[in-house]
Amino acid sequence: MFTKNASSLKSKNSKIDEVQLLQSIGYIAPQNTGYYHYLPLGLRVLNNISKVIDKEFSIKDDFNYNIEKLELSQSSPVNLWKKTHRYPANKDEVFTYMENDKNLRLLNPTCEESITQLFKSNYMKGNSHLPKIFYQTTKKIRNEKRPRFGLIRTREFIMNDCYSFHNTPEDTSKFFKIMENKYRNIFNKLKIPVIAAMADSGDIGGSESIEFQYQDSRGEDTLLTCKSCHTGFNIEQFNGQLNGKLHEAVTKDLTFKLCWNADKSSLVAIYYPKGEELSINKVEEELGDDVDAESFFADREVGNQKIVDDINSKEDLQNYLFELPIVRMIDLRINKRGDLPDWPFKVFSKYQFMNIDKVDLCKPVSEAYDCPECKSENTINVTRSIEVGHIFNLGDRYTNKDNLKVMNVDDISKPIYMGCYGIGVSRLLQILAIENQDSLGINLPKVVTPYTVNFIVDNYKKNINEIFEEDSDLKVFLQDINNKQIEKDYYLDLASDIKQFDKAKVSAAVGIPINVYCNGKHTKLPYVEVEIRGDIIDENWINKLQNIVKDKDNFKVLREHKSDKRLPLIKINYKDTFDVCDEILKIMR
Ligand SMILES: [Zn+2]
Repeated sequence: MFTKNASSLKSKNSKIDEVQLLQSIGYIAPQNTGYYHYLPLGLRVLNNISKVIDKEFSIKDDFNYNIEKLELSQSSPVNLWKKTHRYPANKDEVFTYMENDKNLRLLNPTCEESITQLFKSNYMKGNSHLPKIFYQTTKKIRNEKRPRFGLIRTREFIMNDCYSFHNTPEDTSKFFKIMENKYRNIFNKLKIPVIAAMADSGDIGGSESIEFQYQDSRGEDTLLTCKSCHTGFNIEQFNGQLNGKLHEAVTKDLTFKLCWNADKSSLVAIYYPKGEELSINKVEEELGDDVDAESFFADREVGNQKIVDDINSKEDLQNYLFELPIVRMIDLRINKRGDLPDWPFKVFSKYQFMNIDKVDLCKPVSEAYDCPECKSENTINVTRSIEVGHIFNLGDRYTNKDNLKVMNVDDISKPIYMGCYGIGVSRLLQILAIENQDSLGINLPKVVTPYTVNFIVDNYKKNINEIFEEDSDLKVFLQDINNKQIEKDYYLDLASDIKQFDKAKVSAAVGIPINVYCNGKHTKLPYVEVEIRGDIIDENWINKLQNIVKDKDNFKVLREHKSDKRLPLIKINYKDTFDVCDEILKIMR
């Protein structure tokens, strides 16, 4: 059976955290902080998400490209990352291991270097036709400093990453647009509403970049959308579009706050625009450490003065100050570093400072802003969001590096151009749980349900052979189901330690859209009952089913509408079962 304990399922009408939901319905199980096991049901849903992506990537809008699936090695020599200078720059974000005491390798969080090297060595042959486009859906490892929020911030995650190689910047831009469109189609098919936001390309670099954001008040990204033209922006991009006008970066508009880190071993100085409110979560996230709440929440002027006084009263002030680590955090709304207020201590060494620049440290901007795109006034809406996809036009950033040059075969003075594209597949599982939680459990769209139909056999505390002796047709029927299981994603529930009622309850909770009751008190072959858990999107569904059944006399609608406790239920001749299930799936969300 799916979950050991059906009674551990959520009680009706109490909305629970979606991570708890995924655990209680047997989709995932935590291992350690930042690591999850994907259990059989969750894995099936993840594989289905993957299939939606595979299918979309196989569709050709024009016939000038072919997107091919491969699997790259999960690790890379650190030396390869040094060629693009991502190591040691991103040292803290990757896990490394020493191979046989001599080769330092890292576990790939992304694969730009690996694919570029592979492309250079295997695909840059004399008449190699470009574009070449490769993708994979694999586990990635990243040293997430503070894993949190279920599957959203983990150290191990499943990512779909795609890389494209082109002859010209124009070809790259053209394919970037194709991918933007494919991403929209993928999220549409998964019934996940996203907003495409213009974004900075950040660490990965390049010239064009779009984030796909799912709106959620608990998300860690700030999303700005225009009510008029519906353009989305991430906050860095929005600030950039306004040339930093989000706040005039002059000294009189700046302020700073002093506080301690959690164990008071480092001093933290935070610079931000006057009028904004600091967010402790954002500061802690960027700091990679907790902050001392007392000093953080103290009145700014009083708190700053107290810290200055405390430090100035140290006996050996000079030595104390020289040894004190100081983290200087500068909010991204501030563009001119030169205008920072004077440092309040006379004695310090510039080597003490660790700077964290251009980070979002404030609560979402509250003032109204004008749209940089359509120029409408006060139309910008600010919300929180979770990033689910990100596409980049990289230009020649990875292909024109000193040591990893990939040049055009026909004209070696020109580099090859590149794009990269990523979808957070394991994140999507959590977002599906947010989107599709209902009073029974999870009600997934049909493209991702773990199974299509659950055939429930009432054999509580009975040997199945005893039932077959009474009903030999049932045996043939179950064999037929068994034969179609793989092809049709059917599940056959023959557990003898669970009552039929509980089997049905669990089946609905885990999101199987159709239950077929094969036998039981009220049902005996040649009739079965079909219960519909998923959402039918065709009002005319009863007629449609009636039209396809062969035994029309015995087609009976027992319950037409979904209510709080009851699901639509029909009674049919068992010989019509497979056709009826196929038809229901066709007209289901
Ligand atoms: Zn606009």
